[in-house]
Amino acid sequence: MTNIVTIDGKASIRATTPHRVVVVGAGFGGLETVYRLTGADVSITIVDRRNHHLFQPLLYQVATASLATSEIAWPIRYLLRGRKDVTTLLGTVTGVDTAAHRVQLDDGQTLPYDTLVLATGAGHAYFGHDEWEPFAPGLKTLEDATTIRRRILTAFERAERESDAVKRAALLTFVIIGAGPTGVELAGTIAELARVTLPEDFRNIDTRETRVVLIEAGSRVLAGFPEELSTYAQRSLEKLGVEVALGHAVSDCNIDGVVYGDKALGARTIIWAAGVRASPAAEWLNVAADRAGRLQVNPDLSVPGHPEIFAVGDTVTIAAPDGKPVPGIAPAAKQEGRYVASVIKQRLRGETPAPFRYSHDGSLAQIGKKLAVIDFGRVRLRGALAWWIWGIAHIYFLIGLRNRLAVAINWLWIHTLDQRGARLITQGRAVVDSQSVPSHGGEEKRVSSAR
Ligand SMILES: Cc1cc2nc3c(=O)[nH]c(=O)nc-3n(C[C@H](O)[C@H](O)[C@H](O)COP(=O)(O)OP(=O)(O)OC[C@H]3O[C@@H](n4cnc5c(N)ncnc54)[C@H](O)[C@@H]3O)c2cc1C
Repeated sequence: MTNIVTIDGKASIRATTPHRVVVVGAGFGGLETVYRLTGADVSITIVDRRNHHLFQPLLYQVATASLATSEIAWPIRYLLRGRKDVTTLLGTVTGVDTAAHRVQLDDGQTLPYDTLVLATGAGHAYFGHDEWEPFAPGLKTLEDATTIRRRILTAFERAERESDAVKRAALLTFVIIGAGPTGVELAGTIAELARVTLPEDFRNIDTRETRVVLIEAGSRVLAGFPEELSTYAQRSLEKLGVEVALGHAVSDCNIDGVVYGDKALGARTIIWAAGVRASPAAEWLNVAADRAGRLQVNPDLSVPGHPEIFAVGDTVTIAAPDGKPVPGIAPAAKQEGRYVASVIKQRLRGETPAPFRYSHDGSLAQIGKKLAVIDFGRVRLRGALAWWIWGIAHIYFLIGLRNRLAVAINWLWIHTLDQRGARLITQGRAVVDSQSVPSHGGEEKRVSSAR
């Protein structure tokens, strides 16, 4: 049995071999923790409810038919196949028995730990309106992306067969709620899909007449970026044909469309890119969390009252050196994972770790073809140069040569021939479909199914 002991008020691990580390979540934070524990005298179990690690920054490209699912996700078991000290388990964690030092799984099994790392990320928040989710799915998982892709492509297919002008207009209206990086990237790419990629393929509709409406409650797009880059991003979106509606909170999403400000807009495809809610890690431990459910951690990323439990990534909140919260982005989750691995190793050696210190390298967002913004602090870039840096950075951060090559070739194809190879209508997550099909009598029949 291995114990955390307190010496002079500081946590230290009285080591026995092997020290059992359980990592929950194989996203950016969890996987980095495991990678950085290479060579440590520990036995590691990593458990995730999905069998793949997902590169979320390019998820919108799957949703908009630019990339295939397998180009941005990798089996966790494959990534860790060379690590004999790591056991990979597919399972959903439902709680933590902190007294017994056991992680609880949904099938009743439990996993014992000496050190636990929670890296369970975040999901969507509908600000108390979860009933909107079936009509306005968010983008977080591969299933979300294929659901959105199916809806976008099906809307064009339905419009091609629709004779009623009002219904056709609703099918050709795409609403994105939330103008952060994901909302901006989705809006710009859907506009390019409709105006550049699809027009030649349809006979009864002109896809260039598609409306893409980006609704944002705040006063500017990309609010986390400097104002000049927000202005540039908004102008670029408008040039692509995106209608940007700022200062409007959405008050309803339903099968017919959205209500924002005093307007009701008929739209058969709505995408939610507005709110984030942390995983229930804080609830599992019954510890303090912020309004978005993010667990409040100690300066060494351990959980207050539980020195043997750490939490990293989107499921925690901690202040950066400038006093602002560390942003919910992949590099932050990786830095935290790396730090926790070093703390575990230092504790095993009986050393006292320095507090976590976040370092921000920059913020990037793509708007469209050869359009991106980058904020490196003093250096701010926009346009084609920013887009090239954005592209190279994303290819660099993908895992494996095959995926890097596949994504690079796909992008080359899209940007020279304006073709998107992943325009497949396939199964998605089981949701109420807000689109409709004409019944035999020519009336619309709403489809509510798990297709
Ligand atoms: C659409 C989108 C675009 C983004 N774009 C960017 C970008 O351009 N740049 C950037 O830096 N960041 C971006 N982000 C944010 C970035 O992806 C996150 O900050 C990062 O993934 C956080 O890492 P994490 O390890 O905390 O969580 P995640 O990477 O989300 O991993 C959490 C893991 O935990 C698993 N899990 C959750 N609950 C359980 C459970 N109960 N039991 C078992 N397993 C569980 C999940 O399956 C998942 O594998 C984007 C996010 C999204 C959704």
